[in-house]
Amino acid sequence: MSSSVIDFLATEARFGARNYEPIGVVLSRGEGVWVWDTEGNRYLDCLSAYSALNQGHCHPKILAAMVEQASRLTLTSRAFHNDQLAPFYEEIAALTGSHKVLPMNSGAEAVESAIKSVRKWGYEVKGVPDGQAEIIVCTNNFHGRTLGIVGFSTEPETRAHFGPFAPGFKIIPFGDAAALEEAITQNTVAFLVEPIQGEAGVIIPPPGYFTGVRKLCTANNVMLVLDEIQTGLGRTGKLLAEQHEGIEADVTLLGKALSGGFYPVSAVLSNNDVLGTLRPGQHGSTFGGNPLACAVARAALRVLVEEGMIENAATQGARFLEGLKAIRANTIRDVRGRGLMLAVELHPEAGRARRYCEALQGKGILAKDTHEHTIRIAPPLVITSAQVDGALEQFATILTQDFS
Ligand SMILES: *Cc1c(COP(=O)(O)O)cnc(C)c1O
Repeated sequence: MSSSVIDFLATEARFGARNYEPIGVVLSRGEGVWVWDTEGNRYLDCLSAYSALNQGHCHPKILAAMVEQASRLTLTSRAFHNDQLAPFYEEIAALTGSHKVLPMNSGAEAVESAIKSVRKWGYEVKGVPDGQAEIIVCTNNFHGRTLGIVGFSTEPETRAHFGPFAPGFKIIPFGDAAALEEAITQNTVAFLVEPIQGEAGVIIPPPGYFTGVRKLCTANNVMLVLDEIQTGLGRTGKLLAEQHEGIEADVTLLGKALSGGFYPVSAVLSNNDVLGTLRPGQHGSTFGGNPLACAVARAALRVLVEEGMIENAATQGARFLEGLKAIRANTIRDVRGRGLMLAVELHPEAGRARRYCEALQGKGILAKDTHEHTIRIAPPLVITSAQVDGALEQFATILTQDFS
């Protein structure tokens, strides 16, 4: 590491809250699938900011939309209308088949907003007695970092010493429809779940799980809330991961790639009933639905569709998965994924995934470990076959070494 890189790391360590443990690379430029560090070294980005960069770094059309809008009007607050919100609503509703849209900023805010909305729906539409609403969630869930959300995490580190937490959540195993059936009561308003659990290590539920979940939710008048903040917007090779299951959620949460990495933009999408319960003054956000966010999101959605990124995610994801499966290495316990949401799980004896990610950095690949033994692989959806093949060569080199 050069002295300037060490300076950046030392200054961050001195002043910053230590709530992250980044790989030791300082990035200063990005374009498409590539990023460059302060020394001019180039890397293939295999994390895409946890899927916020599906459209690739600094997409020129999103950049142009952002610059144009930023020079015209950035923020009105929702005290006034702006000329970007209506077209954003129209375009995202048409694309996703949703009836109502609530714009927010971070993913966690979208989750919080959904929780508030389904509770209100429960009391005012379903007829749940006040204060009794229950929401069912899954083990190993990841829905963000706010107090409301970490309260129903099952990760000890996520929760420890942050309580007391809000009641009203029931936790069941992921991928187990029978457990959902058992957990539902008359007071259940929603089932909040990720189509594929990303932070848990790219955990794909058994086939038919979501068909069963959909049936149970419909039969019991429970809102199915799919957190597609990571799986949505092309990541799994479909616009929404629910399309793999042939189902439709009642409430869909989007964030991350909704801005192509330019700006925090999230949204709650729902049928008329759920978001229809919110009245003026009952929920809001100063920046939610601002014209800059809307202009950026409109461009981010447009390029995703127009430039065939969703189809490319399916094609290149299949190629990447096949290539990873073909690597013969004693370190590998499992390889899994859908579209370009991929993971290599290492045998516990192979050592920490972090060591492999650090070694990959030396080979020009940036990937991130999750849960000690899993390497998550999620490049921008604009990746080409040649770039996939190049990455596979490096993965093969690193995974056949021993870092235990
Ligand atoms: C990242 C993520 C969130 C939280 O989004 P933030 O923008 O970090 O608040 C919520 N749910 C899922 C599935 C995510 O991957």
